[in-house]
Parts: sequence; C-alpha cells; structure tokens
Amino acid sequence: MSGIYIHIPFCHTKCGYCDFYSIGKRFYTDNFPELIAKEIKLRKAFLSDHTVETIYFGGGTPSILKPKHIEHIINAIQKEFNVIANPEITLEANPDDLTIETLKQISDVGVNRLSIGIQSFNDEELKTLGRRHNVNSSINAIRSSQGAGFNNISIDLIYGIPNSTEKSWIENLQKAFTMGVQHLSCYHLTYEQGTPITRKVKTGKLSEVSEEISVLQYELLRKLTAEAGFEHYEVSNFALPGYISKHNSAYWLGKEYLGVGPAAHSFNGKVREWNPPSLDTWASGIKSNQPATEQEVISKQIRFNELLVTNLRTKWGISIKNISKNIGKSYAQKLLNDSRPFLIDGKMLYIDEDVLLIPPQYYFISDAIVESLIVV
Ligand code: SF4
Repeated sequence: MSGIYIHIPFCHTKCGYCDFYSIGKRFYTDNFPELIAKEIKLRKAFLSDHTVETIYFGGGTPSILKPKHIEHIINAIQKEFNVIANPEITLEANPDDLTIETLKQISDVGVNRLSIGIQSFNDEELKTLGRRHNVNSSINAIRSSQGAGFNNISIDLIYGIPNSTEKSWIENLQKAFTMGVQHLSCYHLTYEQGTPITRKVKTGKLSEVSEEISVLQYELLRKLTAEAGFEHYEVSNFALPGYISKHNSAYWLGKEYLGVGPAAHSFNGKVREWNPPSLDTWASGIKSNQPATEQEVISKQIRFNELLVTNLRTKWGISIKNISKNIGKSYAQKLLNDSRPFLIDGKMLYIDEDVLLIPPQYYFISDAIVESLIVV
C-alpha cells in the first residue's frame, strides 16, 4: 500500500524557528489545487502499487486551503488511484484556522485526522517561538475539532524552549492529556541556521536551555505519556492504543509514497524524487507537463543507511533478515558486527528474534547510535 503526501507551502506568517520552505498566504490562488490535481495525474506512474491507504496534507499550513479545494484534491487522488475504504486522511492545521464551520466542512470532504500545531500551552513560550496563535485559540481549536466530530487528533508540542522549565513542561503535557487528544508529536527545539530564534541566541538575547533541562524534559515526556496510556512508538511520537499515525509510520517502515506540491519528496523503493522548493518553478513544470522533479536512484548503501535512520527510530526496529534478503548478506553481517559494542548488557541496542532495536530510554541519543552504524 502507498501514501500520498500533498505539500501546501503557504503560511500566514513565518515562525521564529522555522526553516521549512514556506511562502505567504497571498500566493495561494484557486489555480493551486488545479495544479496539484494535474501533478497527481502526471506522476501517478511513480508508484508501483496503486492502492492508496493514507493521504496527508502537510506544510506549510494546509488549513489555509479552502475545503472545496481539499475535496478537489482528494477527488483527483480517488480518480487516479485505487483508494482503500476509509483511508486515513490527515490535515495539518494552525489553531487560528479551525472555526467550527471550517471543521465541519473539512470533515464532510473526508478529512478524518487533524494534526494541530499547538507547540506550547504557555503564552510566553509561544511568543518566544514567534507563533501567531495563543493558548486560548489552541484550546478553542481542540474543543471545536472535537465538537465537529474529530476523534483522531494529534498535536505538536515543542520542548527545550528557552526559559522553559521542568514545571512548564509538566504543565504543557498535563494540559495535552486533559484536552483528550489521541496522539502527540513532541520535538526538541532545534536552532536552524538563519532563523530569528537562532540569531537571538547568537546575540545573547535568548539562552538555550541547559543539557540537563533537555534530558529532564525528555525523561518527563516518556514517563508522563506512559502514565497517561500513550505508547512511545517513534522517537518523537506517542499514541493512545489504535491511534498510531499510519501515514508517518509508512515513511519509517520504508513504504512507497508520492509527494506532490512544491518541495515535496517521493519514494518508490528504487528511486527518490523531490520537487523544487519554489512555487513558480514547480508550477511551470506542471503547466508544461514536465514536472521539475530531481531524482536519485537509491543504491544498496543508501537504502541500507536510510533503513537504519528510519527503522531504528521506531518500536518496530530493523529486521536483520530483511536487510539480508533485500540488501545483501554482507550488509546484515556488518550491521551485526558494528552493533556489538552497543549490545553489551542490551542497554543501547537489543535483539528480539531477528530485529535490532533501540530501547525507548535511549531514543534521546538514537542519532549518535545510528551514526556509528551507518556505512560511509
Ligand atoms: S506554520 Fe509551520 S511551516 Fe509555517 S512558518 Fe510556522 S513552523 Fe514554519
């Protein structure tokens, strides 16, 4: 089964920590969904499996889309692909965009999962992040979503924010639990080059939290989510039973997906493609029936490294048997050999049958573990 990702690059304003490709809402026209529908048609051959299980509107800020445009895009996918009954259809949303009326309309056109960019239930932290919404609008957005019938809601939260503390993070998590959401994506703040928040840190206007606070907040995240019944199934993702993100899990498990829209990436098991991070270049390619995608053929070494990076982030781990079968015995053997130092006492890595896993308490340093296993 495959997934379809639609990148909606428009945002109301630029957040202070963001370095994703995004442009102002004023560039969104009625022509945009037409071009997305055309790209779906032009590039459908990229997927070898035409059965679609998940559809994901990501961005940018997809909740800027008019509901009739979301419907148009879903219809275009249904026309070109064999979409299963009740596919998971996720829309990333900004709290400010979620009025009851809009929510009812996007539910009516088929969206059945929301991923709301809450980031923090603390107004000071939201200001530090340069978000335009506030805590009240976040709470209203979640309540309105539930009122409109959404029962599969994920929220994003950021920890490690300057001036955040053990107490402020506990309050954030407790608020998330009392709001009754089914899924949490929690990321440590990263300082990307050239963003306003990074400049403030460099000029001494803000200070990064200490390593001690970062680790403490991550430990609290694991402990409190477990107590609240959430399963830690990926480094940054936590779900109540039955609410794991099917679309994102497909990326981590190496399934095929087609990404459409400016800056979207695609993968079909053999080739990885990416669209230009420019609305104009992307649109000209689609208009002239020649999508401006670039591509890379995935070598065995690249595939091996990709599987390490994605699989080891999850509770499903990496199957040595699959590596041996799909990439080669030498890669499986090398992985076993290189894992040995981490396998001592089963602390940083352990093997369950033929699957190599990082215990969740070590997810915090998973990048360093994976780096030592990568084939250069
Ligand atoms: S809404 Fe998301 S994509 Fe847009 S600027 Fe903020 S963080 Fe970046």
